Parts: sequence; C-alpha cells; structure tokens
Amino acid sequence: MWQAEVRIDLDAIRDNVALMRAGTTAEVMAVVKGDGYGHGMLPCARAALAGGATWLGVATLEEGLGLRRAGFEVPVLAWLHSPGMPLHEGVAAGIDLSASTERLVDELVTGARRAERQARVHLKLDTGLSRGGATADEWPSVLEAAAKAQADGDIDVVGVWSHFISSDVPGDETIDHQLAAFADGLAVAERFGITPRYRHIANSAATLTRPDAHYDLVRPGIAVYGLSPVAGQTFGLRPAMTAHARVAQTKRVPAGQGVSYGHTYHTERETTLALVPLGYADGVPRAASNAGPVQLGGKRRTVAGRVCMDQIVVDVGDDDVSAGDVATLFGPGDDGGPTADDWAAVAGTINYEIVTRFGSARVPRHYDGTAGTPA
Ligand SMILES: *Cc1c(COP(=O)(O)O)cnc(C)c1O
Repeated sequence: MWQAEVRIDLDAIRDNVALMRAGTTAEVMAVVKGDGYGHGMLPCARAALAGGATWLGVATLEEGLGLRRAGFEVPVLAWLHSPGMPLHEGVAAGIDLSASTERLVDELVTGARRAERQARVHLKLDTGLSRGGATADEWPSVLEAAAKAQADGDIDVVGVWSHFISSDVPGDETIDHQLAAFADGLAVAERFGITPRYRHIANSAATLTRPDAHYDLVRPGIAVYGLSPVAGQTFGLRPAMTAHARVAQTKRVPAGQGVSYGHTYHTERETTLALVPLGYADGVPRAASNAGPVQLGGKRRTVAGRVCMDQIVVDVGDDDVSAGDVATLFGPGDDGGPTADDWAAVAGTINYEIVTRFGSARVPRHYDGTAGTPA
C-alpha cells in the first residue's frame, strides 16, 4: 500500500524515443542525467534503448559509472568534469568523456595512461551559450592538444559537439548563428586533422524542430520523458510521470477558516478540506502555494494555502471526498488532468524542474509497462 507515489510509464519512454528515432537519420543519445530527470536512470535507460536509442548521455562521471555498474554496454557520454576527478575510472569503463580545455585533454591523457586504455573524447565547442566548451579563441589550442594526444595514441577523438542557447524558441536567431559557428568549428578541427565520427549539437527541441541540426547524433532529454521543450507544442510525445497521493484526512470547517501556514487562504463558506501527503520535500514547489492544480474527486482543484514540507491542503467544497481517495498532482493530462507543464506555469519554472525534483527519495516509484524490462 502506498501513501504517495510516482508512477513511470516505461512504454511511453520507449515510444517517445522511437518517435524521435523515426524522425532522424542520426543516432539517438537518450539523456538520463539527474536520475533520468527524476524518473529513475536505470529503468529509463533500458526503456530508451528499447525505443531505439544507441547512446546514453549523462552529466557526471559518477552517473556514467552507475550505468556501467548496472551492466549497460552501449556508448555513454559524460560531459561535466571538475579538475582532479578520477577520469581513469571512466576511461577504464569505456565511458566517452567530454573535454573543453587543454587542461582536461592533459588529464585525459594521464587517465588513459593510468587505465592503459585509449580515452574516448568528445571535444566541446562553445558556440554562444557561454557555459561549458572552448570559446572560438581557445578552440585551436584545444584542437592542437587533442591532435597531439591522438597522434600519441592516448586519446581517440570520437566527437565534436556543442549545445544550444534557445532552441526551445523555434526561429530564434541564435539557432542559425550557433549552427554557423559549429560548422566553422568543425572546419577548424579538420585543419588539425580531427574529423570525428560523431558531430552533435541537438537537444530535444532541436531534435524535434531542426533536422538540419541533427548531424550524426541527437541528444534529447526532456522529450524522452514525454514533456515538450517548446511551449504550446506536444509533438505527439506522451508524459511518462504521474505523481499522486492518497488523501490522509478530511474535515469540515466553517466559512472564513484560515488554511495552512500563514493563513494565506480562507474558506469562502463551510467546506471540506482534504489533506494530501505530498510537499516540498517530495518535489512540490512551494512557489505553487494557492496555485498548483490537483485532480481530486473527479474535479480539478487548486492547492489551498501554502505548500508545506510534507503536505498540501485542498478545498473540495461539499463534494464527496474522503480519506484514501487518490489526488493526482500531475500526469499525462488525459481527460484534462493537470500536467507538469501546468505546475511549471504556476510555479514560475519549467517542466524539467517539476519532474526532476519529484525524484526525491521519499516517494516510491512504481514502473508501469514492459519496455526494457527483461522478458
Ligand atoms: C541536459 C542536456 C541535454 C538534453 O537537453 P533537453 O533539453 O532535456 O533535451 C543535451 N545536451 C546537454 C549537454 C545537456 O546538458
């Protein structure tokens, strides 16, 4: 018996990946960082492979090692490394590692020698995001270091890659600028004798809207989980996560009763309050106080008062709601039910953050569907 639960539809994940796979000639890297955007990295990785992904993408070395420990043998790229990380463990595990600086190329050479295995490297170019990646000025010296390390047999430059600023805004002028900068960066790489098998820049939004950005590999994340990166468009994706809880208690209260911390909500008339055992420790954004939608008793309602650490209150009027009834915070949105997008809108955030924060340890996850699970 569960009190609060997150359900993950593995078949939806498989189908979302298959949909993107069908729309491109590139290979698909399913991004499973952040514990699979809160959906659970390992089952989601299996479902994504069942949908046709041939690569897995993660941010940290530790996430990549977690995939290898779980037995995944497909190519895995990990892209965010601070100095001094045990990169030799990644090299030994055959994990592809990103490098944006000469210093990191040097560390990869050291790691390769220590692991007694060639490091598989993806060189990252900053085409404008100003996050990771080499600037256009730094790019030649990074390429020079990588070309030398490759000639020495220490590294294999498998990829050259970059990341978009605003691909979630179709038509944004930065997209074309970045694609031009990426093409320039590839041309410069070629002059250093670097012609990688995988050139990649497309996240979910570019995978869904810009075929000209697909190159050899696309890196969708949020769309794998069925959420759209582009406002107002669903692309036929199906959201995989549902968050719901059983009402813990109901009570009748008079008109004018203040509800939850600070009494920021007052009942308009005599009414029934339902206590739902999910709060910000579970991922419910406190910014959605007096705003988050909840499906309960066959109707869509709104959180009454502040979101607490462990619980929220819903005013259900005179409707027949009792302890044990299921309150759904968000799901696939069938029959007008609330979605992660609805929560993001009222909490001033993006759907990515809503689902990722619901990956908290306290709420058990239940997996539905069979995609990627052993027969
Ligand atoms: C998270 C991430 C992705 C996936 O982005 P989505 O918008 O979720 O598709 C792709 N590439 C990099 C470098 C990332 O950090």
